[in-house]
Amino acid sequence: LVIAPQQHKQGKIFLTSSQQHYLSRVLRLKAGDRFIAMDGQGSWWVSELEASLTQAKILESLCVQTELPVTVTLMAALPKGNGFDDVVYQATELGVACIIPLKSDRTLLNPSPQKLERWRRLTQEAAEQCERPFVPTLLDPIDFTASLQLPETSNASRYICVARGDAPHLLSCLLEQKLASSPSSVVIAIGPEGGWTPVEVEQATGARFQPVSLGRRILRAVTAPILALSLASSVWET
Ligand code: SAM
Repeated sequence: LVIAPQQHKQGKIFLTSSQQHYLSRVLRLKAGDRFIAMDGQGSWWVSELEASLTQAKILESLCVQTELPVTVTLMAALPKGNGFDDVVYQATELGVACIIPLKSDRTLLNPSPQKLERWRRLTQEAAEQCERPFVPTLLDPIDFTASLQLPETSNASRYICVARGDAPHLLSCLLEQKLASSPSSVVIAIGPEGGWTPVEVEQATGARFQPVSLGRRILRAVTAPILALSLASSVWET
């Protein structure tokens, strides 16, 4: 169960009504039953539901080490339809620390506040499912040009995936980088269905993004981030 940081105090967790409903009606837990609670900011606890069913006692802290050793940020141009739902869920499973939805020249989607809320809920659900202590941050959508200047990514090793041309493969770049140094953060940018415009690639290159390939086949805008993050997590976990 993901709780807000202010919901726990002095060894107790104060449950919201929807959490009470989830624990007692959906999971059918009774007083004295145990469950795992996490605050999405690194803490996990074994907790015991109290008789009132409105609060739980924290029994012990758990040490969960499932985070990647580097901070990986995904900048992804928004695909049309519901395609970003899967990107958000799977990127969380693959260890992403931050997701930045991009509005690029060829982006087709302008998401509603409800969509953003849904994506943030999906990061929580996915983090719970794959036992991550940290829930990734999902920023509000931002224009591609503005994203190049974000202070959060200024010291990172930056890659922009380009579907055509003779850029080096992301895998060889990541391996080379791992051998040469130990960066604390990596940023990977993926374009929309229609791809980046030449001006966008030029702007990104000017902002220290290295153009990289994900192989010979053109992947869908929802497949490319998953391959890129799979490569990053494999490189940094082996
Ligand atoms: N027609 C577009 C083009 O030629 O760029 C295809 C865009 S592709 C469907 C969507 C995004 O996924 C691309 O902008 C790129 O970021 C990424 N992508 C897909 N396949 C790729 C590949 N083989 N190498 C690198 N990036 C790729």
